[in-house]
Amino acid sequence: MSSLLPEPSGPGRLSSRMVSIDVYGQLATAILRNDIPPASRVNINAVAVSLGVSATPVREALARLESDGLVTQLHLKGYRTTDLLTQREIRDLWQFRMLIEPYGAGHAATAASPDQIAALEHEINSFTSAPTGSDFDSYQDFSDHDARLHGLILEASGNAIITRAFERTHCHLHAFRLAYNSSAGSATVDEHIAIVDHISARDAAGAAEAMMEHLANSRDRLLPLAKEG
Ligand SMILES: [Zn+2]
Repeated sequence: MSSLLPEPSGPGRLSSRMVSIDVYGQLATAILRNDIPPASRVNINAVAVSLGVSATPVREALARLESDGLVTQLHLKGYRTTDLLTQREIRDLWQFRMLIEPYGAGHAATAASPDQIAALEHEINSFTSAPTGSDFDSYQDFSDHDARLHGLILEASGNAIITRAFERTHCHLHAFRLAYNSSAGSATVDEHIAIVDHISARDAAGAAEAMMEHLANSRDRLLPLAKEG
């Protein structure tokens, strides 16, 4: 197990809360990188020894990872990592996104406050080019940016229930796990710019249409990377 996980930074003088966050982060990274393969058992004691912590923060981290959909609890047998998304799951998940996000983008165009428009433009300007290689960290930064942007647009639409429903899908986490070792392409950046331009111009129909196009394209970029079924 020790070779499967990043080198522990060691708990040192960290508070117990910081230890929990650190264990969560290291385990999440190991799962996202497929260092702990999909659909495989997570040995709590081995992880604890590997990270130099007790079993308690490992159990806390696994509970959080379960709500992210990255592990599932086995009856009396600890945890296993979930499978990667299948093509069917991607279609279903993106269909859900295509129901709520074009609606959200359209409403953001009419309802966003000047501060929310400024936040969207700031987010867009923070990432003007996509990662060109398959480097884990740079693609993770890009995926985090993508998640923030989609979240900001839904927030600006003014419907907190829709925003929470979107967040609970953890769609970016699962897309990232499937696709971090493939090039994201600059098309995503251009599509994001088009969406935010329409929102800034208060063009509801254009924003909704640009979001729908972006989601259809992102689904089609992801599908070939997933298993059938
Ligand atoms: Zn996006």
